[in-house]
Formats: sequence, structure tokens, C-alpha cells
Amino acid sequence: MGGRRDGALKSAQGSDRAIPIGSGGSSLLRPLKAAEVVARNIVGDIRAQNLGPGDGLPSEAAMLVQYGVSRESLREGLRLLEVQGMIAIRRGPGGGPVVGSVGAAHLGRVSALFFHMSGATYQELFQAWVWAEGELAERAARHPDAVLRAATMEPFTDGHPHESGGALDGYLEEHAGFHRAVASLVCNRVLELSLESYGQIVAHHVAMVDDPRTLRDVLVDDHHGIASAVTAGHPKRSRDLMEEHLRGVVDYCRERLGGSLDTAVEWL
Ligand SMILES: [Zn+2]
Repeated sequence: MGGRRDGALKSAQGSDRAIPIGSGGSSLLRPLKAAEVVARNIVGDIRAQNLGPGDGLPSEAAMLVQYGVSRESLREGLRLLEVQGMIAIRRGPGGGPVVGSVGAAHLGRVSALFFHMSGATYQELFQAWVWAEGELAERAARHPDAVLRAATMEPFTDGHPHESGGALDGYLEEHAGFHRAVASLVCNRVLELSLESYGQIVAHHVAMVDDPRTLRDVLVDDHHGIASAVTAGHPKRSRDLMEEHLRGVVDYCRERLGGSLDTAVEWL
């Protein structure tokens, strides 16, 4: 892990020339390329047919006929969706494309590339993350259905849910599970996906540079308190506790990473 850490965090040092953030200009008006049209149509068909994660998609031969494009464009379109996690390609006999998921982690991953090119730093990412999660927690506590709030937060208000058996993947998944549950109460998928993506980048990057399980003792009671505030419907308290919770993580990272928080966010 050490080699990756050094490579990831040092490569941006010393490069203070960033690409200014622009509107993208005329690129918004350019027509979609054939591969992008295919990708759009596949996603459209997944929605129209109400398919869920793991459901099979037509074979390549069938898609070539269905979408009327070249094999090259079809494969490029499938690849575009595959890297975003929206589909998965099962290899081997009986394999083929299947429906994937809509994950804030994937959105975060591609966002990190934008952040890097703009020169945005880890410091800025952490700032955005604290604000975003505070906003989600406040909105979650405002959800009008007290029964739903209680049911969604119940796994986190009851004892210590973070018993993942020590595996890093399991720990990260359980930690993300709490934040996802809070975000789900916002009932706005645009906010849920975009604001959650910051935390996904942070989790991914912290896991690359350090073992976040050492943070467990600091975090385990925080979730309990936030979940209780959301359940009780206290928006301000939920926001304050969430911000405090994440500042703990930021302070921890600052201590561990020092000046490297001023480097540009990497695409990991
Ligand atoms: Zn947390």
C-alpha cells in the first residue's frame, strides 16, 4: 500500500498549473457519437423494461440488430457503461452483458478525474464532503414520515452495527451503508447521488493511504448519535453531529497525511 500511497499523493505536488473550470462550451451542443447513442439507448431500454441488477441483457449479435450500429460502436458503448458500473460483462460460456448498479462510487470515480484536471485539492474535497453530508443529514431529519425515519435508522441506533469481522471491504461497505441510509431519506436522487459521491471518493482514497479500521473506535458512537437525531426529527442537531463526525475523520487524515491535503485529488 505504501508505494501506491506515495505515488498517488506525490504525483500532484509541484504542479500548480491547473486547467481553469469552464462551461464546456460548444461540447454541450455537439451531437452524441454513435457509441454514446448506443449507451443511451441501452440505459433507456433497461429503464423501459424495468430491469434490475444482475438481469441479463441481449447478446452482442442481438444488440447489433436492435441498435443498428457497427460492432465497434456497440462495444465502445458497452465499455462506456461498463466503466461506470451500469452494466457488467460476464465472461466465458453463458456470459454476456448484465445490468449493473447506479453507484455514487462510480460517479465519484469519474468526478475525481475532473477534480484533478481542475487542480481541486483534497482540502477542497474534504470541505465539500463535510458540507454535503451535513446537508443530507439535515434533510433526512426533515423527512415527514417519522415511522420511515425510525425504520431506516433502526440498524444504526441499536447497538454496534459495525462488526464486519475485520475485513477492509466489509468495514468500508458498512460505513458507507450508514451514510447511504441517511441519504436515502432525502428522497431526491440527484442530491443523493451527487452529494454522496464526495464521501465515496474520500473513503476510497483514505483506504488507499491508510487503514480506516483504526478509525473505528472514533466513528462507532458517532453514527449512533446521528441516527438518533434523524429518528427524532432534529434537523439542526443531525447536521451538527454529522459535521462533527466528519471533521473527526478530516482531522485524522490531516494528521496522517500532513501537507499532502493541499495536492490535487487523484484519479485512483
Ligand atoms: Zn460515518
